[in-house]
Amino acid sequence: MDYISTRGQVEAIGFIDSVLMGLADDGGLLVPKHIPQLSADTLAQWRKLSYPELALEVFSLFTSGEIPREDLKKLVDDSYGTFRHEEVTPVLRVNNNLHILELFHGPTFAFKDVALQFLGNLYSYISRKTNSIIHILGATSGDTGASAIEGVRGKEGIRIAILHPHGKVSKVQELQMTTVDDANVLNLSVDGNFDDCQRIIKELFADVKFKQEYHLRAINSINIARVLAQTVYYFYAAFQLAKQGHAGPVNFSVPTGNFGDIFAGYLAKRMGLNVGKLILATNENNILERFVNEGIYQPGEFHMTYSPSMDIQVASNFERYLYYLYGEDAATTASLMDSFKKEGKIAIPAEKLAQVQKDFVAYGVQNDESLAIIGKYNDDYSYLLDPHTACGVAAAEKFTEEDEVTVALSTAHPAKFNEAIELIGIEQTFPPQIEALFDKPQHQTRVGGTNGEVKAEILKFF
Ligand SMILES: *Cc1c(COP(=O)(O)O)cnc(C)c1O
Repeated sequence: MDYISTRGQVEAIGFIDSVLMGLADDGGLLVPKHIPQLSADTLAQWRKLSYPELALEVFSLFTSGEIPREDLKKLVDDSYGTFRHEEVTPVLRVNNNLHILELFHGPTFAFKDVALQFLGNLYSYISRKTNSIIHILGATSGDTGASAIEGVRGKEGIRIAILHPHGKVSKVQELQMTTVDDANVLNLSVDGNFDDCQRIIKELFADVKFKQEYHLRAINSINIARVLAQTVYYFYAAFQLAKQGHAGPVNFSVPTGNFGDIFAGYLAKRMGLNVGKLILATNENNILERFVNEGIYQPGEFHMTYSPSMDIQVASNFERYLYYLYGEDAATTASLMDSFKKEGKIAIPAEKLAQVQKDFVAYGVQNDESLAIIGKYNDDYSYLLDPHTACGVAAAEKFTEEDEVTVALSTAHPAKFNEAIELIGIEQTFPPQIEALFDKPQHQTRVGGTNGEVKAEILKFF
């Protein structure tokens, strides 16, 4: 399988090279040259597989022999062996129309573990094969950092430095990152907000000499390995429903920020999975809701919400979808992204909007509504939703017809976002792994929000 850029200026490369490249060298995003098409027979075969077996088949398609099958199997088994649930991502029936796909049984209690456990092991594998040290640099608003650190802590051949905005991540997120005491992990607590952290990272990656000297690698959600790892659970969830006798398409409702997770669902659909609507849920930061409903992609005002992992104005994976919307036309994609840079918006014509609306519906959930939904499901079903999942469930309620079934993706465990849960007077019991964090010493370096100060700390660490 070859990978190419959505902007068309990168020569086709293999899977490992695309994982290492992260952002495509021409500023675009890497995509598979062809989307594999699954036959009804293959899908029927896959239905019988366990989660790790299924993940192995999906990765085999996208790596086409570049990693020997035994090695790939070990990577997959190691990655999903750390999950607390034997099914890895179990599907829970709530009522006739709604099922919840619990993606939070990994080490950091958020769905990002599904991809980052794998990516961590993959980086470690590549480091061994190439006999080189991999330096990972990233910025986080909370979940990605914790998950990436957990994916590589203590692994030989890897060093990781993660920037988070000082005092602006949830308490549990902060503890998950900073109580890690492995020598290959550096937490930088940066004076500033998440956008400052992201800008610093971007500028450090643009420092070509620094990037090459240290083999800097990224872990953000534009990495193709993350998208591919996330397609697996769409298949898995649909297969579990099929095994329970559900025929026909399944809708998926996805709490969305950077468009990575829901893009994986779109890819699964393009591969041949019988997906009904892709329900795109946002919070008050609703650029993607407006795009799906009006055909205009334009950042709005920034809101801080109870679902901070979706507090995003520009969705970094959106370009991948744009590329497919325009029939894999890289030149058009490049020019649309160029005009986005210059004019701050993309407006698509009516016939393209009709095409978008064939695949997606969208709903932006207000802060109060997300809390109301948490209260409702706690009362009616004794099921506690986290505020991100609540957005997905609210959108699922809105768009699921009487004869349809929607799987709402649960992207985080409620214990990670107790600040919001407390507001409606619900007292939750933390899982013991999270409870234990509060007694551990923290390891972090506070640093001013300039490139120079951050780079100096990173150089000391590398
Ligand atoms: C990252 C994250 C999201 C958003 O996922 P995207 O792939 O960025 O759309 C939603 N919920 C939680 C809990 C997250 O950590």
